[in-house]
Amino acid sequence: MKSDNRVVILVICITLICIVSFLGLKTHGEVEAIVEEQFNEQQLLLTRQSAARIESFLNEKIVLIEVLAADLSDVSPENMTSRFIQVYHRSSGFSSIGFVNRTGVIVAGYPIEYSAIGLDLKATNRSGSFERAKVSGKTYTTNPVLLVQGGVGSTIGVPVYAGDEFKGVIFAIIEISTISERFLADVMPVGHGYAYMTTKSGRSLYDEAHSELIGKKYIGNFCTNNSSYANILRMQRQGNEGTGYYFDETSGERWIAAYTPVVWHDRLWSVATSVPASEVDLLIRSVYAKQMLFLATVIAIILVGSFGLILMFSRWNKTLEAEVKSKTSDLIKMNKELALANARLKELDNLKSEFVSMVSHELKTPLAAMKTSAQVMGMADASEETREEMQDIIIRNIDRQTNLVNDLLDLSRIESGRLRLNCENVALDAVIADSIETVKQAAVEKDITLDVELPVGLPSVKGDREKLIRVVINITNNAIKFTPRGGKISIKARELNGQVEVRVSDTGIGIAAEELAKVFEKFYQVDNTLAREAGGTGLGLAICKGIIDAHKGQIWVQSELGKGSTFGFRLN
Ligand code: ADP
Repeated sequence: MKSDNRVVILVICITLICIVSFLGLKTHGEVEAIVEEQFNEQQLLLTRQSAARIESFLNEKIVLIEVLAADLSDVSPENMTSRFIQVYHRSSGFSSIGFVNRTGVIVAGYPIEYSAIGLDLKATNRSGSFERAKVSGKTYTTNPVLLVQGGVGSTIGVPVYAGDEFKGVIFAIIEISTISERFLADVMPVGHGYAYMTTKSGRSLYDEAHSELIGKKYIGNFCTNNSSYANILRMQRQGNEGTGYYFDETSGERWIAAYTPVVWHDRLWSVATSVPASEVDLLIRSVYAKQMLFLATVIAIILVGSFGLILMFSRWNKTLEAEVKSKTSDLIKMNKELALANARLKELDNLKSEFVSMVSHELKTPLAAMKTSAQVMGMADASEETREEMQDIIIRNIDRQTNLVNDLLDLSRIESGRLRLNCENVALDAVIADSIETVKQAAVEKDITLDVELPVGLPSVKGDREKLIRVVINITNNAIKFTPRGGKISIKARELNGQVEVRVSDTGIGIAAEELAKVFEKFYQVDNTLAREAGGTGLGLAICKGIIDAHKGQIWVQSELGKGSTFGFRLN
């Protein structure tokens, strides 16, 4: 993979990490505020629920007593006691229910032990509320007071009338402990804060954590008039709902209080819950931890993703590089082949030009000789002997031209695959003998010794006798042509691995190593003086190779420049 791409991915990766970290840090501050707000809201919800339940409990009790009062025609103590028993048992939560007659004396009640039957309210100076109910004819409630049976309780009083005649007041006492046990004791989980309830005057009605304060005012007992807690109490006494922090001097801790008013009839109380501020800090820390975990996960994903991308690109790149490499090497190879083919084409073109000039020369020379001979023959004074000599020259040149034309025709047949073989069993020693008959005159003329070595019992081969004679003549003629005067040519045949091999070796000029492969190509002639002097068409060896290939045999050459050559072929 290119290092440029790697750098780009790394830069993107770092940028993403920076953005994620920046967003993380930015939301970090906001998280604190949100968690705190949510926490307060939650706490407030708890107090609101408790307050609502207390309110509905108290209002239900008022309604019950009012229904009882409205439905009471017989105010005899027996009748009332039996009605009180019914109500007391059907609706739990009453501490006691009683009846004060028109003169202010308690005449009936249930349970009897808590009813103070016979108590004269006027005589004991407790008739304030009774008198107000008598005058106004309306239901009343009282602030909690110490009860005869112990504890603190509020009274609900409902005047009873028979028509317009005032008969007395039904009163029911509800103990505050009943309310706190039912609706406040379990509001806060143990160890995570506490609930408390105050009157409008800031007196404690219930305090889960400070039971010694019940019945007392908070200010002066729990806090000073200008403490942070006093502010919260002020809000509670005004019937507000909300949350606030305060500092508890005794525990040295910060607390959060959530408060909600309890409004029932003509009373205003306030329910509150207090939770240590450390609870919010804990929550914030846990949210931070989760946020950090989330950030770390996102960063890890970015890192892994980038690493994966780098790896993927790297592999992809390697594949591409390999592909480009192989394509390039293919191209180089093709270019080389093309250059070779080009060179070969040029070579062939040169060969063609040489061939054209050579063929023209080969055709013209005999024609000129024949023309001269014919002219000499036509001369009146030409002797018989001269005429015969001229006739021989003409015939020889006609043969030469016929050979050339035959060579060209044969080559064209070989190349077009039209070369026909008349196959028969051929004895190669006879083929060699016939060939030597043809060439021996030329060897004699150049004073070249022809040495023939043929083993007895040489097996015959399947082949075209005439064409094989042609091959041997061609090779031997070449040997004579390219061997200087007085040289030696040896012709040998032998059986080798089920084949018959014929070799013609000479002591001639030889062929350079780089030319060896080309001598079997058509029109190819090694460019040396002797070859030029020797004439020829460059077709002989190409025809030999064509004939031997058609026999499915092999033809070859071994040679060293200046030391002679050996041409050979093998047939099955
Ligand atoms: P030609 O002999 O008509 O030129 P050939 O195809 O028979 O054509 O031979 C091709 C060339 O091979 C010759 O021109 C010559 O340069 C070379 N050659 C063939 N035989 C011999 C040999 N015995 N010694 C050296 N060169 C040879």
